[in-house]
Amino acid sequence: MKTLITNIGELTTNAPVPEHAAAGDDRCGTLHDAAVLIDGDRIAWVGPAAEAPDADEAIDAEGRAVIPGFVDSHSHLVFGGDRAAEFEARMQGQKYAAGGIRSTVAATRAATDDELRIRLRGFLDEMLAQGTTTVEIKSGYGLDVATEERLLRLAAEVTPEVTFLGAHVVPAEYADRGDDYVDLVTGEMLDACAPHAKWIDVFCETGAFTVPQSRRVLEAGIARGLQPRVHASQLGPGEGVQLAVELGAASIDHGTYLTDDDVTALAGSETVLTLLPGVEFSTRQPYPDARRLIDAGVRVAIACDTNPGSSFTSSMPFCIAVAVRDMRMTVAEAIHAATAGGAAALRRTDIGRIAPGMRADLVLLKSPSRVHLAYRPGVPLVDAVWKDGVRAV
Ligand SMILES: [Zn+2]
Repeated sequence: MKTLITNIGELTTNAPVPEHAAAGDDRCGTLHDAAVLIDGDRIAWVGPAAEAPDADEAIDAEGRAVIPGFVDSHSHLVFGGDRAAEFEARMQGQKYAAGGIRSTVAATRAATDDELRIRLRGFLDEMLAQGTTTVEIKSGYGLDVATEERLLRLAAEVTPEVTFLGAHVVPAEYADRGDDYVDLVTGEMLDACAPHAKWIDVFCETGAFTVPQSRRVLEAGIARGLQPRVHASQLGPGEGVQLAVELGAASIDHGTYLTDDDVTALAGSETVLTLLPGVEFSTRQPYPDARRLIDAGVRVAIACDTNPGSSFTSSMPFCIAVAVRDMRMTVAEAIHAATAGGAAALRRTDIGRIAPGMRADLVLLKSPSRVHLAYRPGVPLVDAVWKDGVRAV
């Protein structure tokens, strides 16, 4: 089955740009009056609409914009309960702290598989409707062997990008015994969880895990064939970024507080910095300065970090709008970071771009330009979504 999407007014291809492109360069690889041919689950051809090959069906984009499907490389979608009361209190002045995670742990342990599964699928549907075609999902609300294994099993039902985050926080029953909990995470819990996961992650932060503890977690995961990614420098500066770079992590996520040495280390590495604008929005923390990072040559991604505590949005367009307004990214940089950037943060070479051979994950917008994603915040601008070549929205 060949489908031609034609009469595309503005096509964002994310064709490769030089590694350290200047801010003015078109990192989105923009084509006008373009067409895309989908053959099965892949993109078969991209070029001027006037030269488009024949297809079994043609979709007229009516001059509107098409972008790659969003790659949301950071989420915590398997959990029970919510924390609306905590959010409400925070908006009235209470400070965000890592310990709030424990209340979600209690609700998650109490939930059945089916309760968690129904919720998870609901989140995925709302993400797809907003243009997200790939999502990474972490565990981290079980914090015991059986529940962490359960959360990963449920995540693996819906995505290959599954991350074991047993080291999210130290659970209440291990209070003041963090090293003992790390023994569990790197031992029996890792044994149960590694078969379901691709990635190993740790929250390297005051109130969560120290740098030596984080190193133990990541190295144990790597020894079991998992690839590292790290939550760090969310609540204050620390050594988590340096650890992530040293261990060759695919991504360090948050990076709200970065030293100049962190920025230099990231710029000279293959590690992506994943910005999570929903977190600063929802916790009223200062936004990281993406301009400083991009100008220094750091590769960046944007993700939602959908979770019930610090960022309960599932909207990549919302995160793009915030990144443009409050993190000083250009619109082109933000769209690139939410698509190709997310793919790089997951070390995927088959998504995040619109080019022959790539997976046919595309979004047709209701607007003539991708700029509207930031220009019209909160407005549902996604008209149609193809995932693996199948019309999904
Ligand atoms: Zn997170």
